Order: sequence, then structure tokens, then C-alpha cells
Amino acid sequence: MRPYSECVDLRSDTVTRPVSGMRAAMAAADVGDDVFGDDPSVNALQSQLAAQFGFAAGLFFPSGTQANLAALMSHCQRGDEFIVGQEAHTYRYEGGGAAVLGSIQPQPIANAPDGSLDLAAIESAIKPDDAHFAITRLLALENTIGGKVLSTQYTQAATRLAQSRGLRTHLDGARIFNASTALNQPVNVLCAGFDSVSVCLSKGLGTPAGSVLLGDEQFIHRARRLRKMLGGGMRQAGVLAAAGLYALSHHVERLAEDHANAAHLAAALDALPGVRVEPVQTNMVFVHVPAEQCHALAAHLAEVGVLILPGARLRLVTHLDIDRHGIDRAIDGFRGFFC
Ligand SMILES: *Cc1c(COP(=O)(O)O)cnc(C)c1O
Repeated sequence: MRPYSECVDLRSDTVTRPVSGMRAAMAAADVGDDVFGDDPSVNALQSQLAAQFGFAAGLFFPSGTQANLAALMSHCQRGDEFIVGQEAHTYRYEGGGAAVLGSIQPQPIANAPDGSLDLAAIESAIKPDDAHFAITRLLALENTIGGKVLSTQYTQAATRLAQSRGLRTHLDGARIFNASTALNQPVNVLCAGFDSVSVCLSKGLGTPAGSVLLGDEQFIHRARRLRKMLGGGMRQAGVLAAAGLYALSHHVERLAEDHANAAHLAAALDALPGVRVEPVQTNMVFVHVPAEQCHALAAHLAEVGVLILPGARLRLVTHLDIDRHGIDRAIDGFRGFFC
């Protein structure tokens, strides 16, 4: 096995490590006790993102999961329900937190192949005011979802529908900057119409931790109480916020490189015998390989220093710790196995 520092790690964009400039910014950060609202770096990050996204206020969280949970709990009361995609992170990959900790019932509906939720399906999932039913309170969408971008036209139609039926709207924008890069539209345009948005700093933006939740003053006021309740009140969190501020000025424009690397990887792998690659939109490449070979493939790749999560439908993720040379090493690894 190679030492990790020599590996091409395609398992996720969460594996990115802080670059030296980011570490220097963290070391130099002005800090204070953020539970008292005293941390200048946290406050700067929150207000910078709120302004950029077109919201009144922001709140820094240790993780995206906690930011999403606080958002759901800030929008919904115990016994309310939220409409959400079967594939959504808030439904599928957050330990059932909305139900377990918020007593909020999910109403999942199928994601269309493009990642969207069919508007008619949303409409028919909204419950009438009847004592049999939970109160449908919220529509939650995700952009990007499974590497796919929701168009602004779609999100505007979906938020208009929700609004016309009295629902609130939350966007899990963990990778909203990838969507913005792919669509070449600013994030405030992509997020217009949503009541709240969560944004991850620890994926393609390359910080060690942190997400920011955005919304109006009252929503964020409630979310601050929930963050404390959920154990997310941090003290000198400015060391992390400084990493976020660094990422916003140094790691957003470069996301286009990750998308180009993903397209390059996809084209090369699609040419291999027995391999089929789904169309790529952002930094994720979904690759179908014979199920009985997937563990041998992962082992072969690990030998040559390429890390993947095994499966019949592989998800390969490009990010700032993988340059074009690393992508070419990964392609060589796949060729060595399949050719
Ligand atoms: C990563 C991610 C989150 C939050 O995950 P954390 O690991 O808790 O920061 C939320 N939504 C989506 C779509 C994600 O990819």
C-alpha cells in the first residue's frame, strides 16, 4: 500500500485537506467566544455568505447534517411533515435525525432521473387540513443532488408551488457552488425563492469542517437556540470560520477544474470494455462495473494508490486534492484492471 499522501482519493470531496494558505489563515484568525456571538471571524463568515446569497442572516455550524437538522426543526413543529426526495441527504443520509430528534415526519417522493421532484407529485403529497394527516409544512430540495444540477427554472417553479400552498422551502446546498459553476449563474440567483439554504464548506471548498445556514432573522434566531440544543455551539470557532473565508476567496473559481477533471475521467472510463459511465454534470462520476468484480477492482486500484468505495455503481468524486495527473493515474489504474 502507498502512503496516503501519494494516493488519488476518489471516495469523496470531503477528503480534501486544508492547504498551507488556509492553515496560515486559520492560525492568524481573530477569535472570540461564538456562543456569546463574540467571534469576529465567525461573524464575518456569516455576514459575507448571507450577503452573497441574498439572505438577512447566517449561522455557522460544525457540520452540514446539523445545519440541515436545525433548519428542519426551525421550520417545522413536532408532528409536522416535510416533502423530500428519496435520494435526498436530509432523508437518506442523516440518520433519520428529523424524525428521531425533531419528531418531524418525512414524506419522501421519488427523485426523477434529473434529480428533481415532479411538481405534480409534490402537489399530490401535500395533505389537506384534516385530523387524519400530519401538517405538511416544508418542501426540502437539494442542489446539486447526486452530482446533478437542478435548473433555476425548476427550483423557481417548485418554490412558487410550495409558496402558493403555504409551505416553507429549504435548500440543502451542500454543493451549491458546484451548481453555480456548472450553470454559470450566481448563488443568489440559484437560491432565490427558498426560505433557507445550507452551504457546506468542507466538501469541494476544502475546509476541515463547517457549514453555514442562511435565512431570515427570525428563522436564524430559532436555529441558534436549536444549534445550542443539538450541541453545536462552539467557542473560538473563528479558526474554522477563517478556513471558510479563505475557501470563499480561493477555492470557488477552481471548482471548474474539478468538473473538467470529472468529464475527462468519465470519457476515458466509458471507453473501457464492460464499463458504462453516466453523463457527468459536476464533480461526480457514476460508473457501472460488473458487480462480481467491484471488490477486486477496488483492491487492484488500492495497490496502485487509487482509492474508491467499492460498488456496482461506483461514485468517483473529483476535488482540489486531485490534479489532472492524479486523474490520469486513476485512468491507468482502471485500464490495468479492465484491459
Ligand atoms: C455532505 C453533505 C451534507 C452534510 O454532511 P456533513 O458531513 O454532516 O457535513 C448535507 N447534504 C449533502 C447533500 C451533502 O453532500
